[in-house]
Amino acid sequence: TEGIVLASRPAGMPSAENFRFEAVSLPELQEGQVLIRTTYISVDPYMRGRMSDRKSYIAPFTVGEVITGGAVGIVAASKSKHLQAGDTVTGDWGWQRHAVCRDKQVRKVDERYATAALGVLGMPGLTAYFGLLDICQPQKGETVVVSGAAGAVGMTVGQIAKIKGARTVGIAGSDEKLAYLRDELGFDAVVNYRSDQLKDELKAACPNGVDAYFDNVGGTLSDLVMRLINKHARISICGQIASYNLEKADVGPRVQTPLLMKSAMMKGFIVSDYAPRFKEGAAQLTQWVQEGRIKYREHMVEGFERTPEAFLGLFKGENTGKLLVKISE
Ligand code: NDP
Repeated sequence: TEGIVLASRPAGMPSAENFRFEAVSLPELQEGQVLIRTTYISVDPYMRGRMSDRKSYIAPFTVGEVITGGAVGIVAASKSKHLQAGDTVTGDWGWQRHAVCRDKQVRKVDERYATAALGVLGMPGLTAYFGLLDICQPQKGETVVVSGAAGAVGMTVGQIAKIKGARTVGIAGSDEKLAYLRDELGFDAVVNYRSDQLKDELKAACPNGVDAYFDNVGGTLSDLVMRLINKHARISICGQIASYNLEKADVGPRVQTPLLMKSAMMKGFIVSDYAPRFKEGAAQLTQWVQEGRIKYREHMVEGFERTPEAFLGLFKGENTGKLLVKISE
């Protein structure tokens, strides 16, 4: 089959040259294994971290090896007692057209939610659910601000905050995205972080200050949000995409003073911290999706050969909602 390997480690913004297409030979199917034909590949911001060899919470990719990451596929052949040909499954086999996996390494999913398994009902949805409810603990009438609001995690965060009765403020990088958040998803206020008047617009969007901030972005944007926090604010550090491609550490105003002055709490997390509660989160998200209380949108790029380009699009804000690559029917 064909796979995409890490050809080299990027300095700063990654490019297509960091990836290479290669023929990959699949091992013969053993007892307990399945052969999978990939239908969708998930491209996610955290994968940028794995392209570097810096120490992190997850091991770096190895140069010359197939990029691993979330994918969905259909079982083409099975030597497993638990899975049969035709089943839709999700796992971490990554950027290859076909894969051989142990049955325990994949999870069967409802084919109607094949793509959602990589988004709202999968890792990004669970990130939104636990990072918001456990850390931000939004209360009725409070103001919840979310950065990266038009992405897979952010749009779910805003809708859950709304379900909890909070006033939601979404920050994103284009007016089309803002219109979608406001008009389709019911965000109460929206702000474009590219605006020249960002500081004033943020203030206007949060007339009662900020009780909770779900941060996907970091950088100077978050410095500004931190100036608006209220007493006992909760800040959930989910992502810092504004700094993933910087070669030098980005130093801004220190946050200790606002945290001290407002008796506020800031906490980082990795979604896998909540692995023991994934069943609970997935069940609740599924129910909300089925009830129409959480809507989701996918940005679908077509074709295996466009996987690297799709990934790079994350850092240019090309997506509204979950960015996926469609590989086959
Ligand atoms: P998104 O679907 O949100 O895609 C990334 C978005 O980030 C882009 O669409 C773009 O939107 C925005 N962006 C890109 N570069 C910048 C920049 N320099 N400044 C501001 N915004 C930028 O991705 P996900 O929903 O999958 O992930 C969102 C965040 O959550 C990421 O930071 C990710 O690393 C983090 N994450 C953390 C997890 C955890 O366990 N802690 C798990 C999963 C995700 P725009 O047009 O608005 O710029």
